[in-house]
Amino acid sequence: TKVVAVWGGFAGTTTPQAIPGKIEAESFIAQQGTDTENTTDTGGGRNVDWYETGDWLDYSVNVASAGTYTAQFRVASANGGATLQLRNSSGTVLGSINVGNTGGWQNWQTISTNVTLPAGTQTLRLYASASTGCNVNWLNFVSASSSFSVKPRDGEVHLKCRYCEKEFEHQVVLQAD
Ligand code: MG
Repeated sequence: TKVVAVWGGFAGTTTPQAIPGKIEAESFIAQQGTDTENTTDTGGGRNVDWYETGDWLDYSVNVASAGTYTAQFRVASANGGATLQLRNSSGTVLGSINVGNTGGWQNWQTISTNVTLPAGTQTLRLYASASTGCNVNWLNFVSASSSFSVKPRDGEVHLKCRYCEKEFEHQVVLQAD
């Protein structure tokens, strides 16, 4: 069950959210120092604002399988100079991004970094180690391409899953873009 407050304040969900998957920034389970507002970004809804140095957002997540994920952050800032860290519940920094001036508070950019996550239910914190204002609309976690190893063998290229150690039996066609 998702609880959404229309007028700022708590807008979160207590149900662990799936990784891989997209997590709305406003769907935190706890936060410090931030607010929410309507967004004009694609898809609408709300974004987090008033997100400044020392402020944080906590998310309850359920990671399907341990591994490296590309964490995408949908951010906007008219000031720039922000550093956002993704931390685990022990406070360890799993990854961080720097946000420059995107040209406005509703001029959205997607900035990515790779993070390694254990499997299972856990709390992730998005911590603003530096910020004079950085809006966040969503976070998206996708399996990193390093999930596969590439091995040439007998003049052929074989893709092997790093986690299940299974080799793909299907024909793979590689095409230059
Ligand atoms: Mg949002």
